[in-house]
Amino acid sequence: MTDTLTQLFIGGAWVDAADGATLPVDDPATGEIIAHVADAGPKDARLAEDAAVQAQGEWARTAPRARSEILRRAYEIILDRTEELARLMTSEMGKPLAEARGEVAYAAEFFRWFSEEAVRIDGGGGILPDGRNRMLLSRRPVGPCLLITPWNFPLAMGTRKIGPAIAAGCTMILKPAPQTPLSSLALAAILQEAGLPDGVLNVVTTSRAGEVCEPLLRGGRIRKLSFTGSTQVGRLLLAQSADAVVRTSMELGGNAPFIVFDDADLDTAVDGAMLAKMRNMGEACTAANRFFVHRSVAEEFGRRLAERMGALVVGPGTRDGVDVGPLIDATGRAKVEDLVADAVERGARVLVGGRTPEGPGCFYPPTVLSAVDPESRLMDTEIFGPVAAILTFDDEDEVVRRANDTPWGLVGYVFTETLNRALRVSERLEVGMVGLNTGLVSNPAAPFGGVKQSGLGREGGRVGIDEFLEYQYLAIPVR
Ligand code: NAP
Repeated sequence: MTDTLTQLFIGGAWVDAADGATLPVDDPATGEIIAHVADAGPKDARLAEDAAVQAQGEWARTAPRARSEILRRAYEIILDRTEELARLMTSEMGKPLAEARGEVAYAAEFFRWFSEEAVRIDGGGGILPDGRNRMLLSRRPVGPCLLITPWNFPLAMGTRKIGPAIAAGCTMILKPAPQTPLSSLALAAILQEAGLPDGVLNVVTTSRAGEVCEPLLRGGRIRKLSFTGSTQVGRLLLAQSADAVVRTSMELGGNAPFIVFDDADLDTAVDGAMLAKMRNMGEACTAANRFFVHRSVAEEFGRRLAERMGALVVGPGTRDGVDVGPLIDATGRAKVEDLVADAVERGARVLVGGRTPEGPGCFYPPTVLSAVDPESRLMDTEIFGPVAAILTFDDEDEVVRRANDTPWGLVGYVFTETLNRALRVSERLEVGMVGLNTGLVSNPAAPFGGVKQSGLGREGGRVGIDEFLEYQYLAIPVR
């Protein structure tokens, strides 16, 4: 894998879009176009669907051990090519190389994890209550899947879906985000090299997501949709999945509360804030969006956080020593600028940052706002940028109520040194995941996912494979 791959991957072949269309991919640090990839239309999607449907039967019959070993080989190839993959990812997405290397390792780990899960798919059985009938339960792949991924973690969002789908015996079509198709195409080549049979994975890059995906969801041959992206698009896809009763997993947006109590270890809390806010330049569904800090420590916390944020080096992700790369595009940056302007108009104080730099690239500086008005738009909008918005609170009931006052429920962060309070508050938060005295929850061995409008189902962990399996029950009377 030395040349950048730019074609569609259908039925094990690399092909152009049927109508020859291409879409540009640019480097958000410079605005320069770095590649043109095939821009699939509905005809290409149908070919990918044909390939996935055709490969499904034999793939489901392939021994779990064989599926496991393909994933294991791919895991090793990814790790061997860390540098190459990290550079590709940074060039299309912008994150600093150190973070891109971290994502390569995180992405590979999903393949190792699911290579281990592929051979542990359990069934069950037993004697029914009447004492005469027996039941035998087996678990079968759900069938051909459509996997739709966002641009913020170009490799890991793919492996978190492809890993369990392969382990379960499903075939699939992957539709990556148009901003970051190159990492997904590189991943397809690695899986091919690892021995994945033709048609099991098909990759369709496109700027026409709606035209390409809607017929697949309504057509009746795709049996499962696994989507990661915004809640708004998730809602639309749920509606489109209803016609053919397609099973869905939804990893959607978040609005994470980050709560610092008066008994928190402030060093730990500031370290946690840096991780929860600045991982991926704040462009993460798990990013802390609302900092609720107890009134008695708010000033000190804000001062220390501003100091740490202000010391970060902003620049192109490929440059040595850079901590913060560009945002994904001009639209993403304009949204961050608008949210900060709105908060400042409503009285927020800018402790650091807040000014867009001159020059090319979609850079935005690490920013800390204090005394944020709760009515500010960034309280109910995913900021998706390096902006920490601090509000104060006085008591536990109040902060739990305010933290839960949102339609989202992906993750929350709680900082306190009191065990009882830690457990009490964590259990009262309406979220799928809690970081207790830590700013990082993502781990391939843990079930990732949200409640309320942050999603349906879980990815990773022991349960991640369940999303791609269904039960078959055999009734066996014994005479
Ligand atoms: P997005 O706009 O919802 O797009 C996500 C994916 O859906 C892209 O591939 C996009 O392609 C595609 N898409 C959009 N409209 C579609 C349609 N009508 N039919 C089929 N596909 C369609 O989200 P994003 O801006 O890429 O990503 C940021 C969002 O993802 C945030 O809300 C973030 O919180 C969420 N996210 C969640 C998790 C999680 O695990 N919960 C993880 C990462 C990100 P196009 O761009 O071509 O439309």
